Amino acid sequence: MTEDQVGRVLAVHLPGVDGLCAGCRRWWARLVPYPCYQAEWAARWRARVATRLFLDGSS
Ligand SMILES: [Zn+2]
Repeated sequence: MTEDQVGRVLAVHLPGVDGLCAGCRRWWARLVPYPCYQAEWAARWRARVATRLFLDGSS
């Protein structure tokens, strides 16, 4: 998985006005509370990379 792909996931899976994931509803007609699985996964991936960069930079 690349930064580019993760960015695309985050760009699609956004919170809707009703608290549901707008991306899931639009692309898969699924009513899922935000953050959905994909959004959570992408956010975790970002956090992990940021932590690694932080640790690398401080050593
Ligand atoms: Zn979603």
